[in-house]
Amino acid sequence: MSSEHAAPAASEGDRSLAALMPAVLAAGTERRFAHLTLADDPFVHRLTPDNAREAVGCALAAGQAAAEMVTAKWGRDPEGIAACLKVPVTKSEQPAQTGRAVLFSEYGNRPPTIILHMHSVAEANRLIHDHHLEAMLGVADVGPMHLAHELYHHLEGRQLTPGTAGFRIQTGRLGPFRFRTGLPSLSEIAADRFGGAILGLTTPPKALSFLTIHALNSEYAWGLLQRLRTLPD
Ligand SMILES: [Zn+2]
Repeated sequence: MSSEHAAPAASEGDRSLAALMPAVLAAGTERRFAHLTLADDPFVHRLTPDNAREAVGCALAAGQAAAEMVTAKWGRDPEGIAACLKVPVTKSEQPAQTGRAVLFSEYGNRPPTIILHMHSVAEANRLIHDHHLEAMLGVADVGPMHLAHELYHHLEGRQLTPGTAGFRIQTGRLGPFRFRTGLPSLSEIAADRFGGAILGLTTPPKALSFLTIHALNSEYAWGLLQRLRTLPD
């Protein structure tokens, strides 16, 4: 299926954010974004294509199950959920960028705490506003989405939800012993599904990362879109 063609025709050579985002949304199903996250996993090379699809399915189901449990108990407001779970949320105003990486949020589990990097959030929100992308993306403020993402890490870390730990792959063998490991990227995929589900987002959270990637390096963002189009959906 060539869903890319649904994008409004951008003039050839238009590398602007306003041209990129419709193309990202047209090409990027939630599963494709999940496979993009999986591609960064240190153990991804041990997965067959079938294993990869299974892993993504498992992670999306884990995020969905957690979202259903949480919304039934505590509603859909990430700040309210954090309060119910007694996880303090710190809002840092310091720029949080290292090289090509922009940090939006962090979770630490000892003691449980979430840091929201408001400078990064404000910059993404400004891009949405200045490029008139709110109607297309269905979101004006990316802050709640990042907070929800980190709440998932808390739920999984505290085993308040079954999470993605059940999915394990064999990484080695020594005589009768088999070494198995989980895939760290699966909790990232689950956390994005969780955030999207509790907030009712129409755009997958990972699609919104293209805003920031484009601002940092537009050619890289367009290259990533090309890669996204080759992934299973
Ligand atoms: Zn995460």
